[in-house]
Amino acid sequence: MDRRVEVLASLQGVHKRYGAVLALDGIDLELRAGQVLALLGPNGAGKTTAIGLLMGLLRADTGRVLLFGQDPQQVRARRGIGVMLQSAALPDTLRVAELIRLSASYYPAPRSLAETAALAGVEDLLKRRYGQLSGGQQRRVQFALAVCGRPALLFLDEPSVGLDLAARQQLWATVRALVAEGTSVVLTTHYLEEAECLADRVCVMLRGRIISDGSVDALRARVGHRSIRCVSALDVATVAAWPGVVQASRDGAWLQLRSDRVEAVVRQLLQADAALCGLEVQPPGLGEAFTDLTADAAHSQREAA
Ligand code: ATP
Repeated sequence: MDRRVEVLASLQGVHKRYGAVLALDGIDLELRAGQVLALLGPNGAGKTTAIGLLMGLLRADTGRVLLFGQDPQQVRARRGIGVMLQSAALPDTLRVAELIRLSASYYPAPRSLAETAALAGVEDLLKRRYGQLSGGQQRRVQFALAVCGRPALLFLDEPSVGLDLAARQQLWATVRALVAEGTSVVLTTHYLEEAECLADRVCVMLRGRIISDGSVDALRARVGHRSIRCVSALDVATVAAWPGVVQASRDGAWLQLRSDRVEAVVRQLLQADAALCGLEVQPPGLGEAFTDLTADAAHSQREAA
């Protein structure tokens, strides 16, 4: 990693407990300027707790939390961030324009109402009361509130939940445009496609620890397996026993394999079935990498416990 890149926020040796539950177990994390960092992990891994600490909504039990070099509970530090949380308790009776104006008034150099509304795609909703909007419309308003202050650092906690496909793609395009303007982003997500599409760095969390931190490609590369697909009548159990075949399954006419020795397995397939066709070899997707990584780490954590 390039240590010269400005660090906007950090967790240093942070532990956080809720009663008997250890939510963060000694986390070190740096958010750097210009980056889109995706925090991935299964339910309960500690993602929301980690960003809650960085935003100053929670206090660490031990360790150090810095936001723009300050305590995140300082108003001056918090004025540099925009936040879209999973659950937003906003007053139902206020109109969307009022909510945006109110939120913008908190920041030193906010965007205009028109600019914010256009960015979030809520121009048609400005006169509507928040409580009367659909779930997806409310999510878009929450995004508007997150970006209205022109924040240097944007926290998006599962931003796509509740959005239809078009709204999700619109959101991703907007996030990319904000990043191009210099905004840094931290997002938590369960949509690996979202991480793949937006993030240049991915941190995977499991049971309060970070088990992987690097680029999307680096995460993919941790999986030594590639996928092979072909139309073949070969028996699945026979193929599963070949050297280099990690997993074999059938989907109708398609034989699907995961292999750690692709070239050898492809040669054997072609020799064993002269009628084989439709051969495809693919690198592991982020989904496969994520599943392998979390399963391996969960196994090691259980062994160590
Ligand atoms: P998800 O993907 O489900 O949103 P997450 O990775 O964001 O999960 P957290 O919400 O940070 O996980 O929760 C981490 C752990 O802390 C979980 O075991 C959760 O049950 C627990 N936890 C979180 N908030 C509280 C709270 N206010 N009181 C008690 N336990 C909590």
